[in-house]
Amino acid sequence: MKISAIVPAAGAGERMGTAARKQFLHISGEPIFIHTLRRLAASPLIGEIILMAPASQVEQARQLVECAGISTPVKVAAGGATRQESVALGFGHIDPGVELILIHDGVRPFVTPELVAAVAETAARAGAASAVCQARDTLKRARGGQLAESIPREDAVHIQTPQCFRHAILAEALERAEKEGISATDESSLVLAIGMAVATVDAPFWNIKITTPEDMILAEALAWRLAQS
Ligand code: C5P
Repeated sequence: MKISAIVPAAGAGERMGTAARKQFLHISGEPIFIHTLRRLAASPLIGEIILMAPASQVEQARQLVECAGISTPVKVAAGGATRQESVALGFGHIDPGVELILIHDGVRPFVTPELVAAVAETAARAGAASAVCQARDTLKRARGGQLAESIPREDAVHIQTPQCFRHAILAEALERAEKEGISATDESSLVLAIGMAVATVDAPFWNIKITTPEDMILAEALAWRLAQS
């Protein structure tokens, strides 16, 4: 089973509030997206990685990838205005003969080869799979500063990446989204929108997405702790 991975890393990272885009910020001395690529390259299942970088920083990203000596072939291309557009552009770089496509956020640097394998094996069987993390807190909707109805915690999960899809399923989901103007913040939503099921795979809690400055503190601590094990 050889898989192509798309890594969207073309966002502006506005919630981080730093001058540099968050994917270029360093943890343990290296840009976040380089950590992510190293982790994906540690999976023997992934045959190539398509890194979607900000259009203005494609060359910089390419040089950083080259210096890092990532063992899996990495193509660097320009992403789009939204995450969905970046993934759709990345999809255009994939060999149509590839059976499974794995998508993983560039700013989720603690992914493990075990999680990649579990998501890929589930997608090979079920067609579509997403890493998820069970909700821990009590969940409720809130409107206008007031608590509203409860959301049963047993049914609630946080959607993460990696997500993995059979080529034909992702192709149809992206095409339908484009045609019908459907927009979503992840590809499992686009696959659900074409009426296909998406299987869940439990992810370890440290598979965090780095979004805000607090996440950087957590990420430094996690990088240090994981380097000890
Ligand atoms: O915005 P969010 O943190 O959910 O982004 C998830 C991933 O999608 C990040 O790695 C980000 O760089 C990427 N992204 C992208 N193109 C965009 C917006 C976000 O590749 N236009």
